[in-house]
Amino acid sequence: NKKILMTPGPTNVPERVLKAMAYPVMHHRTDEYSALFGEFSERLKYVFQTRNDVMTFPAAGTGGLEAAVINLFSPGEKIIAVSIGVFGDRFASIAQQFGVDVEKIDIPWGSGADIDAIRKAVRDEHTSILVTHNETSTGAYNDIREIGKLAKEKGLLFVVDAVSSLGGLELKMDEWGVDVVISASQKALMSPPGLTFISLGEKAWDRAAMSTIPKYYWDIKKARDYMKKEKPQNPYTPAVSLIAATNESLKMIQEEGIENVIERHSNLAEKFRIEVEKMGLRLFVQNGYRSDVVTSIDVGDGAARLKREMEELHGIVISGGQGDLKGRIVRIGHMGCVDEKMIDMTVNAMQDCMNRMQGA
Ligand code: PMP
Repeated sequence: NKKILMTPGPTNVPERVLKAMAYPVMHHRTDEYSALFGEFSERLKYVFQTRNDVMTFPAAGTGGLEAAVINLFSPGEKIIAVSIGVFGDRFASIAQQFGVDVEKIDIPWGSGADIDAIRKAVRDEHTSILVTHNETSTGAYNDIREIGKLAKEKGLLFVVDAVSSLGGLELKMDEWGVDVVISASQKALMSPPGLTFISLGEKAWDRAAMSTIPKYYWDIKKARDYMKKEKPQNPYTPAVSLIAATNESLKMIQEEGIENVIERHSNLAEKFRIEVEKMGLRLFVQNGYRSDVVTSIDVGDGAARLKREMEELHGIVISGGQGDLKGRIVRIGHMGCVDEKMIDMTVNAMQDCMNRMQGA
């Protein structure tokens, strides 16, 4: 019995992508693999909307965040980390683990960062700013374009966690002046979990050359050197089958066109929010900060039951709250391989569950 994942990741993987993963495993030091990896890395640039290289590592998105920290910074270096939820906290604590001196800006959960709050916190000694694009734990997003302008004005290296936004929310790395973007395979890129991606602009490569944190596996310069060989390769055994799968997802995104993909997400999210409010339910995130890839709904004590019955009665998997929001909200992901029919099914199933819960 096939279940639908209306979760904020991992998300549903299209048949085409699953089939690409089922091909016999290629050896990674062959021309065949180099051709695949070269093609795949070019497709990533299209989705990142950048001319910079995008490096791929077999890992969860958290690995990509760690890779960013250990390649860019040095112990004692002063940076700003903006947190609007669990993943903003995580990025800040990774940096702290490596001895980076983090000034954290904590925004109340359910909102995005206020640009003036960031402006006030920045001092000359800060070199960089870490920001989560889509805060998956709350369903709020940060305005990357606006923060990018501030980062540029203040000369800060701008590092964005786009694990749950890339391919779902508009993100123009080059045009918006983002220096580093990190993402992963299992969310809006509608692929299985297991790959993380990191792209650095020129300014970021200069910083990377100064970083004194030790690294071996996570050496992104080494990854780039191997990728730049005449026949693109990786320093260590890559996740060949996942690359074949994700290459197919990227191809699907290119076929649809990134602008159309973003617009589809925006239309479906808007439709879903309207339906949720029609049901008399309360959206957790403040108006103006609601993300188009995940919607969180404040259902009070009913969260656990709603989540359970959506899965048991309707085969639709949704997520609960994380951190302080555990047991209070449900989170519904609408990213990657989603269409109107899936939104309708989710809305109908939720209505049925709510009726049961209210004893109707
Ligand atoms: N950052 C964000 C914004 C995320 O949504 C997630 C995953 N939910 C992560 C980081 C961590 O990714 P992973 O679970 O793949 O380590």
